Amino acid sequence: MISELHNPLAGAAAVSTSALCKRYGTQIALDCLDLNVPEGAVYILVGPNGAGKTTLLRTLLDLCRADSGQAQLFGLSSTQDGPAVRSQIGYVPDSPDLSFTDYKVGELLRHHSVYFPQWDSDYAKRLTTSLEVNLDSRCSTLSKGQVRRVQLVQALAHRPALLLLDEPTDGLDPLVRDRVMGLVAEHLDTSPTTVLISTHLVHEVEGLGDHLGVLRNGRLIAQLERSELDRRLLVARGEVSDGWDLAPPFPVLSHTHRGREHAWTLWTDGQPIEDRLAATGITVRSVESLTLEGATRALLAMETSS
Ligand code: ATP
Repeated sequence: MISELHNPLAGAAAVSTSALCKRYGTQIALDCLDLNVPEGAVYILVGPNGAGKTTLLRTLLDLCRADSGQAQLFGLSSTQDGPAVRSQIGYVPDSPDLSFTDYKVGELLRHHSVYFPQWDSDYAKRLTTSLEVNLDSRCSTLSKGQVRRVQLVQALAHRPALLLLDEPTDGLDPLVRDRVMGLVAEHLDTSPTTVLISTHLVHEVEGLGDHLGVLRNGRLIAQLERSELDRRLLVARGEVSDGWDLAPPFPVLSHTHRGREHAWTLWTDGQPIEDRLAATGITVRSVESLTLEGATRALLAMETSS
């Protein structure tokens, strides 16, 4: 494991956990997790199925209790200050379920708004219009995608200090997915908010995310600012001569080649690398940063010592 894949994230923490552990029977869902989401960050949380993303978000809301360790949100304890913490959070859960299924959507939103003194009715109206939410529909009759839209209105309309979005576009058709991500981007422009988004669709948050956390088997194998990723995680392409048997002077996350043309995904020290690659006999063609999606794939594919 490359230890530098955890950098101390700057700024006051909106969310921090220390040695957070959660098991379901013998299954470890969270394994001594130290998460740090700076205030104002748009933190993208990725990981394979079963990595612990939903468990983490539910634990922050105290919907699920950790076996040990701490979680703090804006300096408050997730367990001891639960109601105060939850009043500052807008949450889109992973499951497309609405409580109070006998309610009409309009009634559900009115009921929900009572718990949030900052509820902005005009904004809620704009969101329902934009997401084509029918306030007269009975909640029990909604499709998965329609439930998702209602959950988004519930999460955004009180302009929370923290958004916890668990696969927010899951179940939505492609056009609505674009509209939802547009609404989230617009929301961030007008409301100072910290965001923690769990997603498998990293390309959707390419332009939004400024921090990346990669979770595997309940552990964060990487937690970095986007700028650090852009500077240090690089793809170098180049040509080598027959019989070349050296290696780039950096940890190699992946390597492919066709004939003499090679591509290496490298974890570098952030300094220019062209000359150092050339010194190992590589004729360098290009050196580029990865997209957030590319970085996610490279980090997820990385072997770890665990
Ligand atoms: P996905 O990307 O598939 O949504 P995830 O990263 O959100 O996955 P979690 O849902 O947090 O993963 O699950 C983490 C681990 O905990 C998995 O091994 C899962 O099987 C287990 N788990 C989660 N909830 C429960 C539960 N209620 N009972 C038993 N095991 C559970």
